This record gives sequence, structure tokens and C-alpha cells, in this order.
Amino acid sequence: MAATFRGIWLTKPGDSQELAFRDLTLDELMPGEVVVAVSHSTVNYKDGLAITGKAPIVRRYPMVPGIDLAGVVESSEDPQWKPGERVLVNGYGLSESHMGGYAQKARVKSGWLVRIPDAFSAADAMAIGTAGYTAMLSVLALEAHHVTPAKGPVLVTGAAGGVGSTAIALLAKLGFKVIASTGRTEEADYLKALGASEIIARSELSGDVRPLGKERWAGVIDSVGSKTLANAIGATSYGGAIAACGLAQGMDLPGSVAPFILRGVTLSGIDSVMAPMAIRKEAWMRLARDLDAGALTRMTRTIPLKDVPQAAGDILAGKVRGRLVVDVAA
Ligand code: NDP
Repeated sequence: MAATFRGIWLTKPGDSQELAFRDLTLDELMPGEVVVAVSHSTVNYKDGLAITGKAPIVRRYPMVPGIDLAGVVESSEDPQWKPGERVLVNGYGLSESHMGGYAQKARVKSGWLVRIPDAFSAADAMAIGTAGYTAMLSVLALEAHHVTPAKGPVLVTGAAGGVGSTAIALLAKLGFKVIASTGRTEEADYLKALGASEIIARSELSGDVRPLGKERWAGVIDSVGSKTLANAIGATSYGGAIAACGLAQGMDLPGSVAPFILRGVTLSGIDSVMAPMAIRKEAWMRLARDLDAGALTRMTRTIPLKDVPQAAGDILAGKVRGRLVVDVAA
């Protein structure tokens, strides 16, 4: 009898998606050159959307959800990867078109794997996960547009979330003054411990749009979109840059071109899913260098696989603080 392993299995027998915890076999996974023994995954906002079915993330059924995974190579048809090597995958269609991280084994394309930096355990890699790697991609985008600590503070929206918490920790370590925008001002102490210098209420930015307001920050990392992003752009100082990576408030962008043509600000789009391997490697190298280990611990909580459905609802409701690691073996 084929060896089995535990995982979450999504099916869609009728109009709605069904979730089961099942014993799976390798035969049920999809083609790929490398089998990974998965020890950890995580819950990102997108995982919340996939698990609850609130947005059409999953594009084929059955599906093992989970957009991130970390573990060790169990077997590989590609000589580039050897059994026992510590690896992670972020995105690349996991949980969309290819089975993902919420199972104790995954079979993936060899070109999707990144070596876990020596500085991190598999659990650390998933404490970072897509959210943290996206925060790093956003920092790289600001740097590419010459946003430096000398130019002024950086605004981080959705501050108490996963992308936001990691962005604050990274920016603070790099010497930036960080302004954190949050709907949870009761989390001020948490945000300050991560490195935020100033906390502003989410409502300052989420309401009516002022296309060109007072210049308040040199850069922005925005995981919220919609009116918040439009207001953040409108308060970016001359020559500044905004990394737009999320849509927690909405997908719309009800702004004006005024900040672009009058202040020369740059709006930089961030995509983690299909980012080229060279950029992924650079982001993980920089995370190993620039993410404070204490901050990572402060922002992270670990849950067992069975708690993923509950966590999926919680993250969409804005109730998750920082990052969740999923212990896939537990
Ligand atoms: P989280 O849920 O952890 O963080 C989102 C945060 O946004 C919340 O914690 C909350 O922060 C704030 N927020 C929630 N609802 C609203 C609202 N209605 N209006 C304003 N702010 C709100 O999610 P993640 O950090 O995992 O992801 C953040 C966003 O980034 C998501 O939209 C996700 O899809 C996107 N993303 C995009 C990626 C890419 O490749 N471009 C990759 C990873 C994520 P607070 O309570 O502090 O206000």
C-alpha cells in the first residue's frame, strides 16, 4: 500500500468549494521534478481567500491549498537538488494551478525552489513567507527609486498585518523613520517594538481622496490599495516612490495623475507570484541580512494544520496580527 501523508484537500463537487483533512498519496499530487517533505507553511491573506473561497484563487480541483511551503528535498529528478537540502517555494501558482503547502509532501517544479538561507530555519522561512518576501520586494523597489532614510520617512499601511509588520521591521533596521498606518491603534506598542516611530489611524487615509495633499513621506509600502493608496500617493514628497503590493481595502485606485506629473513620484507595482528567480534570490539574501531575528519572533505565532480554516477566516476579518506559521506535522 502506498505511504500516506496528511493534507488539506479542496474539492468543488457542486457550486461551492468543500474542504477536507485527508490522508493523501504521492500519486494524487501533480507532476514535478522534486518531492519536498514539507514541515512548515503559513497563512497569508491570499490563503484566506483561497480556503474560504471568497475569491477565485483556486483554478483547478482537487487542490491542496497553501501558497508557501518549506521543508527538505526528499527526492529529485533534477541533479541541481539533492535529498536533504532545505528549500522553500513562494507562489508560482501554488494553491492556484498547482498543489501547494498544506500537506506533508509536495511535488513541484525544480525551477521554483529557493534554498533556505543559513540564517533561517524552515519555520523562520515561513514566518517570513510570501508576506515577508513581498515586503522585501517592496523595500527593493523603494531602494531602486532612490528612497533613502535621508530623504524622509516611509509610510507603511496595513501595518499590523503580515506584509506591514515585516516591512516595518526591515525599514527600521535599514535606518528609516517608519510611519505605521493601522486600524488597530491598540497595537501601537507592538508596532513600535517592531520599529515604527509614529502610528497614524487607518481612517486618516481610508476616506475621501485628496489627490495632492501636504508632502508627508518620501516612500510608501502599501498593502491596502483603494482610497488609502490614492491618499498615500497624494502625500508623497517630491521625487518619492510608492510600492503598491496589496488590496486589503480594495482593488480600485481612485486617484489623480497630479502627484506623478507635478511631483515626479513613482508608483511601483509589486508581484511576488511570478517574480523572476534572480529577484527572489536577492530578496531572500537581503531578508537574511536585514530582518531582525527578534522582530521576526515578536510578529509570529505558530498554529497546527487543523487550525488553518479558522485562521483563514480570521485573516480576512483583519484579526491576525503579524504572521502565522503552520506546523504541517502537528
Ligand atoms: P494581512 O491580513 O496580514 O494584512 C492586511 C492588513 O491590512 C490588515 O492587517 C489590516 O492592517 C489592513 N486592512 C485590512 N482590511 C482593511 C481595510 N478594509 N481597509 C484598510 N486596511 C485594511 O494580509 P497580508 O499581509 O498577508 O497581505 C496584505 C495584502 O497584500 C493583501 O491584499 C494581499 O493580497 C497582498 N499581497 C500581495 C502580494 C503580491 O504579490 N503583490 C503578496 C502578498 C500579499 P491594520 O489592522 O494594521 O490596519
